[in-house]
Amino acid sequence: MVLTEPRRLEPRELPVPDIDDDSGLLRVEACGICGSDYEQFEGVLGTPTPVVPGHEPVGIIERIGDRAARRWGVDVGDRVAVETILSCRYCARCVAGEYQLCDRRRMYSFIPLDVQPGLWGAYAEYMYLDPGSMVHKIDRSLAPGIAALFNPLGAGFRWGVEIPKLQPGNSVMILGPGQRGLACVLACREAGAGSILVTGLAADAHKLELARRFGADDTVEVESGDALARVREMTAGRGADVVIEVTSYSTAPVAAALDYVRPGGTIVLAGVKGFQAIPDFVSDKIVVKEIVVRGALGVTSASYRSAIRMIESGKHPLAAMHTHDFGLREAETAIDVLAGRVPGEQSIHSCLLPVRA
Ligand SMILES: [Zn+2]
Ligand SMILES: [Zn+2]
Repeated sequence: MVLTEPRRLEPRELPVPDIDDDSGLLRVEACGICGSDYEQFEGVLGTPTPVVPGHEPVGIIERIGDRAARRWGVDVGDRVAVETILSCRYCARCVAGEYQLCDRRRMYSFIPLDVQPGLWGAYAEYMYLDPGSMVHKIDRSLAPGIAALFNPLGAGFRWGVEIPKLQPGNSVMILGPGQRGLACVLACREAGAGSILVTGLAADAHKLELARRFGADDTVEVESGDALARVREMTAGRGADVVIEVTSYSTAPVAAALDYVRPGGTIVLAGVKGFQAIPDFVSDKIVVKEIVVRGALGVTSASYRSAIRMIESGKHPLAAMHTHDFGLREAETAIDVLAGRVPGEQSIHSCLLPVRA
């Protein structure tokens, strides 16, 4: 499926690319879709078209160069989860281990069709595996839609545990119960969080219920409940050790996070706001409380591995957050459901499946 212009996805036949010693070809089984798929579709990211979207793929290695097979530790027939980011491995940031900040960083699904070989996204039956790819083996017996949870769950581990350096016993407040918020609940619980409070809207009631099933101690609907009073109650008046902001487009939680966090605590900002300024953001609170504020964009290999171990363990009822599988040609419908534009459909995690089971 090619995004030819904003809001227009069209089926196209493209040649299956040749590969060399350093690259590979993925037979896509499932591609998770997230908020940035929606933003790319709407054209708000200003990214180039025409383009094959899809940056959360799981699939089978169909072909692979000898050197790529040695480097990545995989072979034809293995099922792999593919990281979104392509990195060079040689710049100062890559050498420092921060490959997600690579000077020559590129991302699957945002490289236009006219850059050879064109198949840079997973809204397709096959995807090109560039030499700069990072891939992780994942159990072949999992349903493709469940395996595709590696991406939101990886974000849960990076944003909820790795970035704030979460310690056992820490109190955590998660603002927003979408797929990333729920993933943070699972990851923080796994890492030994003491107490977990999740906020949402009244319209998110089913997601808040799932948050409690996944291990949140309490949830609060922000229209009717007093989130600040609840977090103080939960933390003997101090505020949360870690606050994770994963709402989309809502600015109020960013300003409120400065009140929710304890002195010396950490706020992780991961929900994008369309580059809006934040009203009532009082930076003095950061100063007087010595708050650490961290931005979070991508996911690192370590967090993807934690996510894959969690999925393979079968310990959690993860199927409860995987709500929709769509065929490839239903990509526009999938985006509409994700955006909440289809009455009666409540999406948490959705996938496109080139071959529907
Ligand atoms: Zn994504
Ligand atoms: Zn680099």
